[in-house]
Amino acid sequence: MSQKYVYLFSEGSAKMRDLLGGKGANLAEMTTLGLPVPFGFTVSTEACTRYYTDKMTIADEIIDQIEAALVVTEEKAGKKFGDPSNPFLVSVRSGARASMPGMMDTILNLGLNDDTVVGLAKLTNNERFAFDSYRRFIQMFSDVVMEVEKKKFDEIFEEIKHKNNCKLDTELTAENLKEVVKLYKAMYLKEKGIEFPQNPREQLLEAIKAVFRSWDNPRAIVYRRKNDIPYDWGTAVNVQAMVFGNMGNDCGTGVAFTRDPATGEKRLFGEYLINAQGEDVVAGIRTPQPIDRLKIDMPGVYDQFVKTAQILESHYRDMQDMEYTIQGGKLFMLQTRNGKRTAASALKIACDLVNEGMITEEEALLKIDPKSLDALLHPTFKPAALKAAKDIATGLAASPGAACGRVYFTAEDAVEASGRGEKVILVRLETSPEDIEGMHVSQGILTARGGMTSHAAVVARGMGTCCVAGCGDVRVVEGAKSCTIGGNAVKEGDWISLNGSTGKVYLGAIETMPAEVSGNFATIMGWADKFRTLKVYTNADTPFDAAKAVEFGAEGIGLTRTEHMFFDPDRIPAMREMIVSNTEEERRKALAKLLPMQIEDFKGIYKAMGGRPVTIRFLDPPLHEFLPTDEEDIIALAKDMGITVDDLKATISSLHEFNPMMGHRGCRLAVTYPEIAEMQTRAVIIAAIEVRKETGLDIVPEIMIPLVGEVKELKYVKDIVDATAKKVMEEQGVTFKYEVGTMIEIPRAAITADEIATEAEFFSFGTNDLTQMTFGFSRDDAGKFLGEYYSKKIYESDPFARVDQKGVGKLMEMAATLGRKTRPNLSLGICGEHGGDPSSVEFCHRIGLNYVSCSPFRVPIARLAAAQAAITNKK
Ligand code: PEP
Ligand code: MG
Repeated sequence: MSQKYVYLFSEGSAKMRDLLGGKGANLAEMTTLGLPVPFGFTVSTEACTRYYTDKMTIADEIIDQIEAALVVTEEKAGKKFGDPSNPFLVSVRSGARASMPGMMDTILNLGLNDDTVVGLAKLTNNERFAFDSYRRFIQMFSDVVMEVEKKKFDEIFEEIKHKNNCKLDTELTAENLKEVVKLYKAMYLKEKGIEFPQNPREQLLEAIKAVFRSWDNPRAIVYRRKNDIPYDWGTAVNVQAMVFGNMGNDCGTGVAFTRDPATGEKRLFGEYLINAQGEDVVAGIRTPQPIDRLKIDMPGVYDQFVKTAQILESHYRDMQDMEYTIQGGKLFMLQTRNGKRTAASALKIACDLVNEGMITEEEALLKIDPKSLDALLHPTFKPAALKAAKDIATGLAASPGAACGRVYFTAEDAVEASGRGEKVILVRLETSPEDIEGMHVSQGILTARGGMTSHAAVVARGMGTCCVAGCGDVRVVEGAKSCTIGGNAVKEGDWISLNGSTGKVYLGAIETMPAEVSGNFATIMGWADKFRTLKVYTNADTPFDAAKAVEFGAEGIGLTRTEHMFFDPDRIPAMREMIVSNTEEERRKALAKLLPMQIEDFKGIYKAMGGRPVTIRFLDPPLHEFLPTDEEDIIALAKDMGITVDDLKATISSLHEFNPMMGHRGCRLAVTYPEIAEMQTRAVIIAAIEVRKETGLDIVPEIMIPLVGEVKELKYVKDIVDATAKKVMEEQGVTFKYEVGTMIEIPRAAITADEIATEAEFFSFGTNDLTQMTFGFSRDDAGKFLGEYYSKKIYESDPFARVDQKGVGKLMEMAATLGRKTRPNLSLGICGEHGGDPSSVEFCHRIGLNYVSCSPFRVPIARLAAAQAAITNKK
């Protein structure tokens, strides 16, 4: 028997998500639960993958299966596709395994043509309804299947409304709508050079292909990369019998959540529109009613809906996001899924579900996207600054947080401005999937139109970006680079501030402050700590960062970049002096200036960490980051050093490197100039002695030698460290333990890790350099061409953000195994940027690292990711 590609709703279940996509699997599940779901079928994700292998065609056998499913669906409905006397209409919707905002939108009313629209009018005795449905179909089909801009149809529609003095769409008569249909079809002919397709079967196949194509559109590619969704998953297509929310005042359509997606509060939350079709609600074109109003408008339907919502929430044991349509006073469920929510509400819902006995702590942890915690750790306005500010408009508090930035009116301008390093607020009439990249780079999003379930609100919430939506006081014209907000003129580049938690908009920039976390956050973090086996350390170069990280739960420092301690304007001269010294004597003079600064810094860090492990990495300055380039700086430095400007310039040019990243950095510096390692060892040990004395803490410094590729170079530097430490301890009359380890960041170190481990007491994977050197591309320049690699599907994600498990990961695994062969108790960690990336954390758990180390703000993310790794890998 040939492979099955098409499944009736009665043949699937929630377990078949991979094959049917999230939407299809849940429609099947609701069907089995006996809920009122219009019948239909799902074309599987495998059909999508096959479509691409078959060079973007749908194989005949799949077409046959679609045809067969269509016949069953027609029979169930008692109607026939293309039959003017009793036309069958369907909706076509995409549905990947994970919900993907970049994908194709819904097409409704498919099956309408010049004949069936007349039939539908007769059958329903409602000509207005029939032509309203037809004009919607023509627009949606043209837009999403044939790529005729939606705007072109909107303009026609607005003109007809204007001509007939109508404010609301619902005021248009059947005659008006007939005219709209005529003009739409003419527009289609003009744009495509062919008549609007009249054959429903052709319409259906084209729509299915469009869904498959949308899997590969640029928005979907960006979204997949950001959310670690593999290309080969593909999307499914759902074909479902139409029910109509736009047949009159006993009809409507809406969306609802079983709990408040912004706060997590346990109450039915949502909205609906009377006499409307789905897109009207989601697009935010008309302002919907809150769901509670349904109790008054249609009490019977409301009760049934409340019951259905309860059934679904207990069945899925999670907050549900549901779409429904009411036709002739009868409820139909069109979709259910685990609802997207703000980070704060995700925590509340997870804690509440555990308290309600619905799920276990482990299940609760798995429900929270670690990356979403970012949103909780985001800034709020400084109270004093806020007090002084005056709000100029209020919209819906669509996604919490505070933001200020310069106004830009298009996604492209926002991306450009952000590329220049500007903080951006994206102001739009309403957003659409085309705006995703612009939304990603924005501090905040402000829209003039749309409700709490509009595109801007839902997407911003998902991103954890501050958003004020549906702000009627914003007057913005598409294409213009200015707007008015509450009567104030605002042009491109002006500063405004948004409070996504209150919906308020302010002129100017209001200072923000970092977030504070408590309550449910602490509970979740407590559970995470209970289940995780990986430790979570931080990368911190200052006592301030170290203290912040401890607040976030860091258990140690995995990386202190000592060269970062010298970026300060009053410190950098001494560092430069050291770098440009021509003789050992000059260098020792400069190092003597650096020594007291280092001692103070290390003491501060030891104290902030309160006895937790502290790993100090010896100097690793890529020279180009430190050499003076400004004439003024060069003159000042020459003066300090008592040499001529020309001599200094000659030294600087002699230090020029073609590949500074592969240049005279890391342990190579200490090999050439052992006095640098001596000074740093002295500082580490003296600081430890002093803090031990002052606090009684048992400080065991861990000295980490960077950029090692050969055991002998490690041994050479380690010998200097040991000799210096011994000398300092003797001078001070103390002895205590310290450790010397290395970073594994050069492929050769990974390959010879068994040898390296004879000297190293610990390894820490420097996956930034390890990625750079394994791929052979510069971590500073790769951004310029990686974009091409994503769009050409050579890489699916940025290897500098997410560990490349196949290549870099293999080296890590090899190094871990080899290292522990030599030294079974070898401690293994990671301190590259990947240490705070959830999927990389999971990988680190699997290969048996002891800890991950990441920037302070990512510590909670890593704690949760580590717990999830432990839970999923135990199963
Ligand atoms: C690394 O290479 O991963 C690392 C942590 O060191 P740096 O980023 O300082 O080179
Ligand atoms: Mg490095």
